[in-house]
Amino acid sequence: MLASKQPKAKNCKNPDCRDSFVPQRLGQSVCSPKCGLAIKDVNQERARKSLAQVERSEIKVRKEKLKSRADHLREAQAAVNEYVRLRDAHLPCISCDSTPNDNDLMTGSRWDAGHYRSVGACPELRFEPLNIHRQCVKCNRNLSGNAVEYRIRLVLRIGAEKVAWIEGPHEARKYSVDEIKAIKASYREKTRELKRAAA
Ligand SMILES: [Zn+2]
Ligand SMILES: [Zn+2]
Repeated sequence: MLASKQPKAKNCKNPDCRDSFVPQRLGQSVCSPKCGLAIKDVNQERARKSLAQVERSEIKVRKEKLKSRADHLREAQAAVNEYVRLRDAHLPCISCDSTPNDNDLMTGSRWDAGHYRSVGACPELRFEPLNIHRQCVKCNRNLSGNAVEYRIRLVLRIGAEKVAWIEGPHEARKYSVDEIKAIKASYREKTRELKRAAA
């Protein structure tokens, strides 16, 4: 029996057409040469976009390579500070007990993550979360950290023993760039975890 199978109608692949048509040859996916051209343009546009994406990520890689050690330190510090601000989001300023409601919900002013021992005075503790607490901008910037008040509340918050440890001597730390990057990555992850937990 020579019952040739009647090809089944399909819909044109051109998203602007979608007309039903009966394929005349194997693998035909569009109804007409015109739709074929239209699809070709789309595919070229897609190829162009993915090329642009590759270029963007290459630029990113090059920029990453150009970053100095100081850039990496700054980025890692920003990641740790962001984590601290979120960790302490429910707590008042470490130095003056002000809360967001007191001074900045209306003005939208930011909160800082303030070091108890400053980065300059004790770089060994620049990434130590026990040494960093959420602090109002006024205490951190205008009052240079408001250290005496900071200490009083720090003892209440983490205990005298840990404060003594912070105030004690610390071995010099010389982070490699890879270590600094790892710190940044780990604190970004901690921040994501906190956000997930809060959601
Ligand atoms: Zn078509
Ligand atoms: Zn304050």
